[in-house]
Amino acid sequence: MAVKVGGKDIMAVSIYPPEGNPLWEQWSTKAVAQTLKSYSRMTFDYPYHKAISVHAKNQGMEYPMICWNYGRPDAEGNYSDRVKFGMISVIIHEVGHNYFPMIVNSDERQWTWMDEGLNTFVQYVAEQDMGENYPASIEGLDAYPSRRGPAAAIVPYMAGDQRYIAPIMSKGLNTYQFGSNAYGKPGTALNILRETVMGRELFDYSFRTYSQRWMFKHPTPEDFFRTMEDASAMDLDWFWRGWFYTTQFNDMGIKSVDKFYVSADMNQEMKDYLEERNIPKDRVPQLVYMVKEGSEDYKEEMKGKAPSEVVSDLKDYMMDNFTADQRAAMKEPKYFYQITVEKPGGLVMPIIIEYTYADGTSETVTHPAEIWRLNDKEVSLSKATQKEIVGIVIDPKLETADIDTSNNSWPQEPKVDKFEEMKQ
Ligand SMILES: [Zn+2]
Repeated sequence: MAVKVGGKDIMAVSIYPPEGNPLWEQWSTKAVAQTLKSYSRMTFDYPYHKAISVHAKNQGMEYPMICWNYGRPDAEGNYSDRVKFGMISVIIHEVGHNYFPMIVNSDERQWTWMDEGLNTFVQYVAEQDMGENYPASIEGLDAYPSRRGPAAAIVPYMAGDQRYIAPIMSKGLNTYQFGSNAYGKPGTALNILRETVMGRELFDYSFRTYSQRWMFKHPTPEDFFRTMEDASAMDLDWFWRGWFYTTQFNDMGIKSVDKFYVSADMNQEMKDYLEERNIPKDRVPQLVYMVKEGSEDYKEEMKGKAPSEVVSDLKDYMMDNFTADQRAAMKEPKYFYQITVEKPGGLVMPIIIEYTYADGTSETVTHPAEIWRLNDKEVSLSKATQKEIVGIVIDPKLETADIDTSNNSWPQEPKVDKFEEMKQ
């Protein structure tokens, strides 16, 4: 199959014996073509005239412009989805090695992640492209079933026994759990960096800059880290430090949610303050007080009132300066929340928080990782809304590899004891 890349026709070629069919005639060349398109978009135009996938019974292995790949139906020509997607994925992976490490030529013995990890990341992008181009090929699934790349898939490794986890920045020959260390974790880290930290536009520009700056040269890890930073103008030191130089995991949780309402009544704190200093109460102008639900100043009727409904000076001002229509269009908050997020995990990640309101609508807000800059253990978020919040979830789409989601919801979801459940 001819594939247009950068104005040139590249030949995507498959070589297979009858034992490979019907799988190979249907999918191998399409997978090679998809690899050339996706990888060239993410890095640079494939510089050679041909890319060849050769059928093998077992394993996959890369060489310049040619590779062998597993994926064989049984003697009757039947195959499972596992064999089919395993074959497509290994073809993408081995053809992808033309880019890393054969053109961007890193040292695999020293830094295995620089080719296997970067390659696993672009492989994930190409697999998802493949799923979009051939949706009928994945009946019953809404996306290509990538084994590595999605954040949630790396959780079992990151949450595992620390004695058998090494930082990504370990010499490839000396690491534990080679597949997760050098392929899965760096591939996933880059996917999270792209989707959740930098955004696709900025990440893709920086990743292309790295690939083009270092093609036919010999980069080391620092060259990758620095190029991603200088091309994006983002400080990513915290990300490289946590994900590449340590074995820390991400775990965040909702520690507490306090509700506040507005009141024109002087609160106890102010009364104490004035009394200590012998200041008469009438010397204080009218103020708006935030009253915490359940505190000594709290009264049930304070709930859900806008400031202009409570503070007469503010009400008078609005009546004098705005028409009825204008007043009706104003969006005064009525519910005020202080959400305390704690971070038992050592990794620093953005806080993605979803608020669900009483009317059934919801809203997701992302606070960048810099929110942890001054306190690495706990931060408080303030939220003022017109509608009552009935539910809060951290990382609702599982984008940050949070290893324990049992503390991510408010109100806390009841823990179900499976044995108790079975007895009933
Ligand atoms: Zn590989």
